[in-house]
Amino acid sequence: MGEASATVVFVLGGPGSGKGTQCAKIVDSFGYVHFSAGDLLRQFVRSGTKEGNECAEMMQQGKIVPSSVTVNLLKQAMKDSGSSKFLIDGFPRNLENRDTFLEVVGHDCSFVLFFDCPEDVLEKRLLNRAEGRADDNIETIKKRFKTYQDQTMPVIEHYRGMDKVKHIKTDVSIDEVFEKVSAIFK
Ligand code: UDP
Ligand code: MG
Repeated sequence: MGEASATVVFVLGGPGSGKGTQCAKIVDSFGYVHFSAGDLLRQFVRSGTKEGNECAEMMQQGKIVPSSVTVNLLKQAMKDSGSSKFLIDGFPRNLENRDTFLEVVGHDCSFVLFFDCPEDVLEKRLLNRAEGRADDNIETIKKRFKTYQDQTMPVIEHYRGMDKVKHIKTDVSIDEVFEKVSAIFK
């Protein structure tokens, strides 16, 4: 992967804040490779192993799966891609995720895109999207919001302290968000 020279951008924001949507657009315009930690985990769950089933259970409860699982999936995906410019979406979800990534992958992100959107808007988006995700039901959504506030916001605060956070309000249209996102990558 050329780890020493790799560029990593973390994309964080509440569930439904537009991480996946915007990452697809960044890939098209700016030549990054995109990995969604959640998508990698859902793929892992489909493997049907005991560890996969345990992860599915945690995801259904809106909990964060063990760092070792997520970081190993990310590390493997990064290696296999042969790329050196990575957008990592929905990760790190807590400070332990972040520490493990640093340990295993060997370097930190260049910056964090932080997609900020009110919970009532997120809730509507999640209930309206029809991706068939097991965790897009109101009960799990409430748990995901709580996990996000309790465990992911501290990651954003951590990077804010390092002056690495690019804060974008995402309760507007996809195109309006992408305009602001583009300005950061240009
Ligand atoms: N998840 C996790 N670690 C990660 C990313 C995701 O444990 O690094 C789990 C967690 O249970 C989360 C679920 O996968 O609620 C879905 O994550 P995703 O990023 O796909 O969705 P979001 O909640 O941001 O819409
Ligand atoms: Mg996503």
